[in-house]
Amino acid sequence: MPEREPAGERVYRGIALAGGVAHARVLRISQGEPEIPDHSIPADETERELERFQHALVATRHQIQEVQRRVTAAMGAHEAGIFEAHLLVLEDVTLLSQVKSLIRDKHRNAEAAFNAVASRYASALDAAEDEYLRERAADIRDVASRVLNQLLGLSGESELSRIREPVVLVAHDITPSMTAMIDRTKVLGFATDVGGKTSHTAIMARKLRIPAVAGLGDASRKIQTGDYALVDGHGGALIVHPTDATLFQYGQIRERHAALEQRLADLRDQAAVTLDGTRLILASNIEEPSDVAAVRASGSEGVGLFRSEFLFLNRSEPPDEEQQFQAYRDVVSACAPSPVVIRTLDLGGDKVFPGQQVEANPFLGWRAIRISLAHTDLFRAQLRAVLRASAFGCAKLMYPMISSVEELVAANQLLESCRAELKSEGIAFDPTMEVGAMIEIPSAALIADALAPHVQFFSLGTNDLTQYTLAVDRMNDRVAHLHCPTHPAVLRLIQMTVAAARRRGAWVGVCGEMAGDPSMLPLLVGLGVDELSATPAVIPAAKFLLRRMRTSEARDLADRALKLSTAEETLRISHEFARSVAPELFDAGK
Ligand code: PEP
Ligand code: MG
Repeated sequence: MPEREPAGERVYRGIALAGGVAHARVLRISQGEPEIPDHSIPADETERELERFQHALVATRHQIQEVQRRVTAAMGAHEAGIFEAHLLVLEDVTLLSQVKSLIRDKHRNAEAAFNAVASRYASALDAAEDEYLRERAADIRDVASRVLNQLLGLSGESELSRIREPVVLVAHDITPSMTAMIDRTKVLGFATDVGGKTSHTAIMARKLRIPAVAGLGDASRKIQTGDYALVDGHGGALIVHPTDATLFQYGQIRERHAALEQRLADLRDQAAVTLDGTRLILASNIEEPSDVAAVRASGSEGVGLFRSEFLFLNRSEPPDEEQQFQAYRDVVSACAPSPVVIRTLDLGGDKVFPGQQVEANPFLGWRAIRISLAHTDLFRAQLRAVLRASAFGCAKLMYPMISSVEELVAANQLLESCRAELKSEGIAFDPTMEVGAMIEIPSAALIADALAPHVQFFSLGTNDLTQYTLAVDRMNDRVAHLHCPTHPAVLRLIQMTVAAARRRGAWVGVCGEMAGDPSMLPLLVGLGVDELSATPAVIPAAKFLLRRMRTSEARDLADRALKLSTAEETLRISHEFARSVAPELFDAGK
C-alpha cells in the first residue's frame, strides 16, 4: 500500500535486498502463463488479423536473433545453436499455413489460432519415441510463447536483452537466471512483489551492485512502464514519481555513501586482522569467472564460494568437462596463490535447470548433491574438471546440501575414482586439494563430528541453515521477517559445527549472507570461525569492521548471545557492538 501521496508521490515499502539508490523510468516485466483470448473476428477483419500475425512472427524473429547474438558473444556459437532450431519453427510452412487457415477460414483471432496449432504440434512431438523429436516440442513451446507475447503485447524474460535506455525494472518476480541476463549499465535498480533477502536473485543483485527491493505486495500491478521511480535499496522502498524534496534527500544519501566507499577502498591491500591480532580469511562469493575482477578490486583473499551451478543456467546443454575445466582454471589461476573454493552443482531450489521437473517443495526436493549423486556422469565431469583446475593454483572442492555421512562418503568415493582415472591418464592435478562439506542442513550441523573425519573444512551456508532450521522459505517475503540467522537455534548449530571442526582439526568458514552483514559478523568472529566469504561488494565494509574490533570482545559477545533466548535480542547486541566500533557503516544510509 502506498504510505503517503504528496503531490503524486507513492511510496511502497518492502525488504531491502541490495543497497544503493537508483532512479529512472520504469520497465515493467510481465511473467507467467498469459491468458489467451479466444474469440471470432468479423470476416472483413481477417486480413488485418493475418497482418498482425505476420508482424508478430517478424518481431519474434528479431527477438530470437538478438538473444542468439548475445549468447554467442557470452558463451560461443555452439551454445547459441539452439536458436537456429527456434528460428526454423518460425519458418515451418505446415504450421504457419494451418494457423493462417484458422484465421482466414474459421475467423479465429490470431492468438487462439496460433496457440491451438502450436499446442497440437508440441503435444504430438511430446509423444514421439525419438528423443530428437521430443526435444523439438520444447523448441515449439519456447517459440510459441514468444509469438504469443508479441501478439499480446507482453514483455518477458527476453525483454531484458532489448533494453536500450537506463531503467528501473519492476516485476512480480525476477528469477536468478533473469538476473544473470541483466545488463548492469541499463538496469539501474529493480523492485519485485515477492522474494526474500537471501534468495539467489537478491544475492545476484548485491553482486551486481544493483539497488533492489522485494516484498512489495502487488506493487507491480499498480506501476506502469514509463512511470518514474526511485529504488531505495538501503531502506527497502520503491518511490514512484518522487518529489523534488525526496530526490534531494536521496541525493544526500548517495553522496554520503560515495564518501564512505572511498574510505573503504583505501583498505584494499590491508590484511583482515582484528585489533588484537586475529587473522581472518576474508574471501568472495562468485557465480561466474568474470566476477574475478570484482574479487581483486574488493581486496578479498580469493574465493570462498564459487557457485558453479550458474555456469549451467541460461543454456540448453550442461557445460562439458572441458568447458568447466576452462572456467575453473581461469578463476583458480587468476586468484593464485589465494584459494578458490569451488562448490559442486547446487541446482534445484530456486535455480532450475531447463527441463527440470517442477516440484511441490523444491527446497526439500531434488537439489544439489542429491542431483549429483543421481547423475554420476554429470558429477564426474565436474569433479574431473575441478581436479584438473587444481593444478593451476589453490583449488578446494566443496559439496552442497550434505545431510548425512553416506552422501559425503559416496561423493568422496567418486572423487577418489576421478583422481585415479586422471592419474592413469597422466593428467596433472593437486593431490593435496582440500575437500569440504557445506553445513546448511540442521542434520549436518548435529553430526558435524561424524562428518569432520571425511573433510578438511566445513563451510556454513547460513542462508539455507536458517531456512531449514526455522522452516522459513528463504524466497517467501511473507515469512522473511522470520528468516533470522541470529535465532538461538541457528547460533547453537554454528557453535556445534565449530566445536566439532576444532576437535578434528578442520577449519570453518561461513559463506551465507550473514558473513557479509556487518550487524552479524562480530558474532561469527566470536563463535570462532576462520573464514568469512561474501559477495565482493560487501568485503570492504567487512574488512573495515574487522580491523576495528577485538576478537576477545567478540568472544564475550558470542558468549552473551548464546545465553539469550530470542533472535531479536541477539541481533540487537551484535548490531550495537558493530555500531560502537564502526558507526560510519551504519549512518551513511540515513
Ligand atoms: C547458503 O545456503 O548460505 C549458501 C551460501 O548457499 P546458497 O546461498 O547458494 O544456497
Ligand atoms: Mg545453500
